[in-house]
Amino acid sequence: MKDNTMNTSDKLIKILLVDDDEDDYILTRYLFEEFKSSQYELEWTQSYENGLESARNNLHDVYLVDFRLGEKDGLQFIFQAVGYGCTAPIILLTGQGDKEIDLQAMQAGAADYLVKGAFDAPSLERSIRYSIRHALTINKLQTSELKFRSVIQSASDAIFLVDSLGKVIMWNAAAERIFGYTEKEIIGQSSTILMGAKYSKKAIEQGVSDTMNFVLKPLMGKVVEAFGRRKDGSEFPLELSGSVWQTSDGAFYTGIIRDITKRREAEYQLVYEATHDSLTGLPNRSQFTDILEQAIKNNSGVNQFAVLFLDLDRFKVINDGLGHIIGDKLLVTIAERLKRCLRANDFVARFGGDEFTILANNLVHPGEAILLAERLQKELANPFNLDGQEIFTSVSIGITYSNSCKRLPEDFLRDADSAMYRAKAGGKARYQVFDSKMHANSLSLLKKENDLRRAIEREEFRVFYQPIFNLQTRKIVEFEALIRWKHPELGLVLPADFIPIAEETDLIIPIGKWVLEESCRQMSAWRKQFPQHPNLSVSVNLSARQLIQSDLASQVEQVLIENHLPAKCLKLEVTESSVMENAEIALKILKKLKKLGVRISSDDFGTGYSSLSYLNKFPFDNLKIDRSFVGKLDAESKSWEIVRTILRLAENLKLDVIAEGIETEFQAEKLMEFGCIYGQGFYFSKPVANQIATDLLVLNENELPYLGNFNPTIVVESSFY
Ligand code: C2E
Ligand code: CA
Ligand code: CA
Repeated sequence: MKDNTMNTSDKLIKILLVDDDEDDYILTRYLFEEFKSSQYELEWTQSYENGLESARNNLHDVYLVDFRLGEKDGLQFIFQAVGYGCTAPIILLTGQGDKEIDLQAMQAGAADYLVKGAFDAPSLERSIRYSIRHALTINKLQTSELKFRSVIQSASDAIFLVDSLGKVIMWNAAAERIFGYTEKEIIGQSSTILMGAKYSKKAIEQGVSDTMNFVLKPLMGKVVEAFGRRKDGSEFPLELSGSVWQTSDGAFYTGIIRDITKRREAEYQLVYEATHDSLTGLPNRSQFTDILEQAIKNNSGVNQFAVLFLDLDRFKVINDGLGHIIGDKLLVTIAERLKRCLRANDFVARFGGDEFTILANNLVHPGEAILLAERLQKELANPFNLDGQEIFTSVSIGITYSNSCKRLPEDFLRDADSAMYRAKAGGKARYQVFDSKMHANSLSLLKKENDLRRAIEREEFRVFYQPIFNLQTRKIVEFEALIRWKHPELGLVLPADFIPIAEETDLIIPIGKWVLEESCRQMSAWRKQFPQHPNLSVSVNLSARQLIQSDLASQVEQVLIENHLPAKCLKLEVTESSVMENAEIALKILKKLKKLGVRISSDDFGTGYSSLSYLNKFPFDNLKIDRSFVGKLDAESKSWEIVRTILRLAENLKLDVIAEGIETEFQAEKLMEFGCIYGQGFYFSKPVANQIATDLLVLNENELPYLGNFNPTIVVESSFY
């Protein structure tokens, strides 16, 4: 850049004439020749751009600029040149009829103006000299303005200046970066091209309704959010603040624009994460509930909607057996298949775990939801190929429809869920439409299931022990472990009230495992305390669901090892029905258990059907005569026959027999008479807490035969609960 502060008295003064008319140049050259001074050097350019380029770099000391420059005009030149940081004086040459722009020229930064044809050589020289001096005096000001400009240029926000007609007259580097227009491209253009077609809600709320206004409306102190448009046509969210300066010549506007794409993306990401499941990318439970809430609100009653609740039938087996990675892949693939089955307005979400929910909108006929359910089931019935493994799965679906009474999303989900449970209980891979009779059932079931889960967490279960006696010696030989639920409100809850729910919900798995661990721990403690009874054992009940756990034997082995308990001290009781439910698998598992040295009891014997072949097929050590036969021993001779037959059968098969439910001495006598050696029942003792069972073992040490005249249950009932 030239240093305009230099003394110009003897220095060569370079002047550039920016004028598209050659005649004007010739005329001007004549005038310069009249100066008769070698101090001036006149150059001429016809091109606005070349002139501006020179001004931008301060290549000349003075610019003479014609007001009329083809498409462009001299005023614009001054704006731009000043905007670029030109410090050399610019003299505007106007035509006879352009007098009214004089003032504007001065305001824009012109050093002087001359009316073409109305000035002679001396007045031109005077004007040039005056302008240079003027430039010197305002130089200090310009230096500070330069600093100001460099701040603007290095700002990270787009900063631009718009004249009263909406034309851009200044443009910084950030603006170029954000919008993609170079300064050259944008100066003189209407600022409306910078504004996107979409307006954010907020901008409209703030009264910004059209593009022109958007830029020109005084924004003093306000920040609006809107959309900008880049040179490539793409739109982006921005934050705009602006200010207006009123001059006698009209208003100028400064706009400061911040590109908030990143912020928006981050906000969007946050919302997305809060409403979507990260594994499958499907909307999550909270999003589904929102959408359902909307559907309920908007439901006019003309078209119904339905909620479908899907639960995979074998997911746990796959996940546990093949690992979580395969399990995750399966869920992702299922999500894709579900999406394929949907109709245009349907909405699917991953509700949690292996549960998915679908909102089937705009049903013209309820049958459409059924068709959808069938389509889903068909689609999921196709095998999945994951990492080269072929996997089969099926899904149980519960369906509930909207009706005239407006209810909450939870109600729909609960009903669809209980219908789904029905479908599962009905044999899986089915769908079931909710009917209101299910409601009452499912309500209490649901509550109980929740209570049970909480009970596990809060460790509310206890194991009680019912002693099993040698009927002749009246000594304890064994304990049967029987679970109790110490409910905070209901007191002691018996297994009949919660084991069926635990089985239905698979909660029996963790519960059963806990009973096994607790019983073995207790048994181990008794062995230490009563070393004189090395053969004392504990008998634990297994449910059908536990009997198909392929790793049951290793679980049991692990528990025995952890408690240093010989396998002979543990018995497992299974019922005929639980074994027959999955006979093949159960047989395998029972054989494995047997191999460990654990003994197996056939519980509730006599209540089933295939008794004989069953006893032969499975590796039992003893059988327990169901208490229904023992209880009737006093009255019915038929029961006597059954008990006798069972005892004979057991003798042939070399199985020990334990009679359950002995409530009188008479029953005990009779059983002994028939050859039954072991028995348990309220006559001897109810199931009791472990401390009391320990007391019974101490009593057992007593040489006196235990005849039942001291009934510990009385002690138990009054002191324990
Ligand atoms: P079960 O295996 O047949 O257990 C014997 C049941 O008969 C026990 O009921 C016991 O209290 C009761 N009982 C014993 N002697 C007499 C008597 O003289 N008269 C009468 N009326 N009843 C007698 P409880 O403890 O209520 O258990 C009921 C059932 O719950 C058990 O029947 C068993 O099938 C199941 N159960 C208990 N604990 C567990 C467990 O930890 N796991 C599993 N899977 N099932 C369990
Ligand atoms: Ca039992
Ligand atoms: Ca039993």
